[in-house]
Amino acid sequence: MKFSEFVGNRDSAARLKDRIRQGTSFHAYLIDGPDGIGKRRLAYTAAQAKMCEDPRDGEPCGECPACKKVMGGNHADLHYITTDGSSIKDEQIEGIQGILFSKPFDGDNTILIIDKADTMTPRAQNRLLKTLEEPAPTVSVFLLTEKRSDILPTILSRSVGIRLKPAETEEIRTFLVEEKGIPEKEAELAAAYAGGCPGKAVRLLQDEDFRQRRERSITCAEALAEAGSLPEFMKTLEEDLTDKDSSLEFLDMVVLWYRDLLLLDLGAGSEKIMNQDKMAELARAGERVSRKQILQTLEELEKAKNDIWMNANKGYAIRNMFLKIRG
Ligand SMILES: [Zn+2]
Repeated sequence: MKFSEFVGNRDSAARLKDRIRQGTSFHAYLIDGPDGIGKRRLAYTAAQAKMCEDPRDGEPCGECPACKKVMGGNHADLHYITTDGSSIKDEQIEGIQGILFSKPFDGDNTILIIDKADTMTPRAQNRLLKTLEEPAPTVSVFLLTEKRSDILPTILSRSVGIRLKPAETEEIRTFLVEEKGIPEKEAELAAAYAGGCPGKAVRLLQDEDFRQRRERSITCAEALAEAGSLPEFMKTLEEDLTDKDSSLEFLDMVVLWYRDLLLLDLGAGSEKIMNQDKMAELARAGERVSRKQILQTLEELEKAKNDIWMNANKGYAIRNMFLKIRG
């Protein structure tokens, strides 16, 4: 892992690298961004850079025993905590507190990575605060979160924020081809559907059901513009509305289809189109809908996603969307 090989967010990675190289890195960082964006990768690269025995211009060498131990997850001074499912408990923070206030075993640094830090109970957050208030000089803390708003303001004020933004689709595609050895066509598709998150692209490639789900999302997108009845339409969605996350992901796929229709309608070049392998189908679908319908469908899709995100009944949100689109 190297800072310079980060996919997207190169500036943030470079700033963190420079701080570590100069020995001026902060005591606590809060890295936030969506799932799969690279929060863990950045924190582990930082851990490696700090612990490396032979860093080169701030980059970890990747070969020394310390680097190997960090990569293997078995460095004695690197502590990783995450939720057991529902929350990060007070006991988990208590369990490592002694370590954080004592000398490192094996070098000059002790590093604590708390993944899904927003799930820390208030008690756990308050206990952690003590560490952030009176830090041992050898300790660095990396808090990783998708929901910055659930972190106590007192913790936010004692950590330096790094907000990771979605990477360019093209950059993810190149990463998949060059670093992961994925064939061009597959890489293109996974990158298009990853929403700017390299980790999500990798996950989609390992997900055997992804291609079928994508085909179903296109069937669903086309059904929205056709004359079928509501029960028929709901049937096309049956398999994909199992839980909140998969429903949202599925609707995101439908959004991509309409986004492509809009881009084609606006005369955008084919390089902007996500569903590159479906140009003929897109052209046919584009003949059947007006720009006004496309815009309205996109708006209703966003509303349905928002309702589902706010825990509204999924079936209800989708039915409502269908009826509004059909007007
Ligand atoms: Zn090293």
